Amino acid sequence: MRQVPHWIGGREVAGTSGRTLPVFDPATGEVQAEVVAATADEVRAAVRTAAAAQPAWRAASLSRRAEVMFRFRDLVDAHRKEIATLLSSEHGKTIADAAGEVARGLENAEFAAGAPHLLKGGYSEQAATGVDVYSIQQPLGVVAGITPFNFPAMVPMWMFCTALVAGNAFVLKPSEKDPSVSLLLADLLRRAGLPDGVFNVVQGDREAVDALLADPDVKAISFVGSTPVARAIYEAGTRAGKRVQALGGAKNHMVVLPDADVAAAADAAVSAGFGSAGERCMAVSVVVAVGSVGDRLVEEIADRIGRIRVGPATDPDAEMGPLITGAHRDRVRSYLDGDGGEVVVDGRRAPVSDGPGFFLAPSLVDKVSPSSAFYTDEIFGPVLSVVRVDTYDDAVRLVNDNPWGNGTAIFTRDGGAARRFQYDVECGMVGVNVPIPVPVAYYSFGGWKASLFGDLHMYGPDGLRFYTRTKVVTSRWPDPATSEVDLGFPKVR
Ligand code: NAD
Repeated sequence: MRQVPHWIGGREVAGTSGRTLPVFDPATGEVQAEVVAATADEVRAAVRTAAAAQPAWRAASLSRRAEVMFRFRDLVDAHRKEIATLLSSEHGKTIADAAGEVARGLENAEFAAGAPHLLKGGYSEQAATGVDVYSIQQPLGVVAGITPFNFPAMVPMWMFCTALVAGNAFVLKPSEKDPSVSLLLADLLRRAGLPDGVFNVVQGDREAVDALLADPDVKAISFVGSTPVARAIYEAGTRAGKRVQALGGAKNHMVVLPDADVAAAADAAVSAGFGSAGERCMAVSVVVAVGSVGDRLVEEIADRIGRIRVGPATDPDAEMGPLITGAHRDRVRSYLDGDGGEVVVDGRRAPVSDGPGFFLAPSLVDKVSPSSAFYTDEIFGPVLSVVRVDTYDDAVRLVNDNPWGNGTAIFTRDGGAARRFQYDVECGMVGVNVPIPVPVAYYSFGGWKASLFGDLHMYGPDGLRFYTRTKVVTSRWPDPATSEVDLGFPKVR
């Protein structure tokens, strides 16, 4: 059986723990590889390697660091297909979807290549007589990233591109469910000229995460995953004095007003609800049908669901692949036995849902009650709920009362209503007739409420702020003519 190793000091390093975790092929349900889970000692060794490599990387000129990002960007571009194929073989998403993930990850390397422009500090000449004040941004040292299964290429790139260009060394703990793509990215970074030891990968699960949290040389942790783990990592990391940004789960609402283009809204709901089998943190999981739009919208969504082709990523016609594991598929499936909604399309009935592989065809549940598990839980699978409300105000109240606040969208032809929605709604990312409003790389990604613990969003300008700390220098080059003793507090006038 193939064993997935770590990447430490610029090369693959076999795990020694003897504790292995299965990596499935979700399309067949078979175990295709094993990942060797890191021990605390192995994590410590990776962090030490990173700490030893970081000072020289920090000392490399900004243009040299940007150049590595330029080269990495070109290598990812040249290997798009290989990366997409590898990640879909472990994740199960279609090759086209995986290629989209790689493209969105690539944006972060492009952004990072322009970081010199953003790492300029401020300068105030003559802040006091003969005194100049300026600010500089310095890297933190060793930083760590802990990433989820659903974007094994893009989410690591969200983190490490900005962290590295700012002069940090990085230790990545990828999801144990689809770990191989992290090694391919590590090799591309090496080929781009990143010095050995600056980027490292430790495979594993909670034991590796706990070791990163306990390591005093890890100065910051970026986490993306489910809300309970995000909360726990934020609490443990900040208690240990680390800087933490921990992005959690979501329940994203797509509000459809009666004046919306119903066909376009139905297309969007189906694309955003069932793309990547609903395993996206920005997936639409609740359609909020306002007033009279409900019946027609449900009919049009159901009609489109019937035409979705579910199959393995190796089938070029497949539009939706399997779920990540059998256990997750069974959990998602079990919601369809629940009360509090009318199952209009039941994905369990489709032959593909009987296996082989972890497939579950799309389901649509209408007239969902906000107190039912359809609504209260992050199902993270191809089950789309429709909640019907009477008014715009009811819709906004529903979104704002929800504990998560990642993304949301409104579908309408009324610019005034859309503008009011963006003002009223309590979510970090808002789409106007755009169902999955993932910000481009030169903005930053992050939700509100239980979707993000921490102060700064991920990647983009917030990412550079997260991975640097600011130093302000107040300088006076003595002018003998004005030098004097003054015991008072420094003043500017
Ligand atoms: P997860 O929380 O199970 O795992 C995420 C990472 O944490 C993995 O690397 C895993 O090994 C590790 N982990 C799991 N349990 C742990 C524990 N008890 N202690 C320490 N580490 C632990 O999430 P997942 O199932 O891989 O991913 C799906 C979740 O991620 C969904 O909730 C989804 O909404 C969320 N997600 C959020 C965003 C976002 O940007 N907000 C993006 C992608 C995914």
